Amino acid sequence: MSEKTIEMTCVVCPIGCNLKVTMDGNGKFLSVTGNKCLKGAIYAKEEVTEPKRILPTNIKVVGGELPLVSVRTEKPIPKKLLFEAMEVIRTFKVKAPVKRGQILIKNLLGTGVNVIATRTVKMDKGT
Ligand code: SF4
Repeated sequence: MSEKTIEMTCVVCPIGCNLKVTMDGNGKFLSVTGNKCLKGAIYAKEEVTEPKRILPTNIKVVGGELPLVSVRTEKPIPKKLLFEAMEVIRTFKVKAPVKRGQILIKNLLGTGVNVIATRTVKMDKGT
């Protein structure tokens, strides 16, 4: 099978280099050009072999001034786990108060990545 080249933009920093990634006929990473630094090469290889994403979502809050708290994974997790991760996160409830930056789920799906609150939710004064 012949080599394949795909183009992508590096999103690691605001420069946004245009990358050209070459793979063999089996989709194995061969090389990258267009990157101004090593981080871009690492990003390109990861993007074609095991793409990862930060997962932003919400968790239910019990006894809070708001019914939900916005959360995200501390680091990107494998893209193939996003759906399963959403299913797990959906079942969680946390008790108010919740502080911004607080770890709400440790080691999500064994990835070693925690889920943290991205805002503060105080206790509901009426409860
Ligand atoms: S390759 Fe390096 S300089 Fe270019 S966007 Fe990526 S991180 Fe930034």
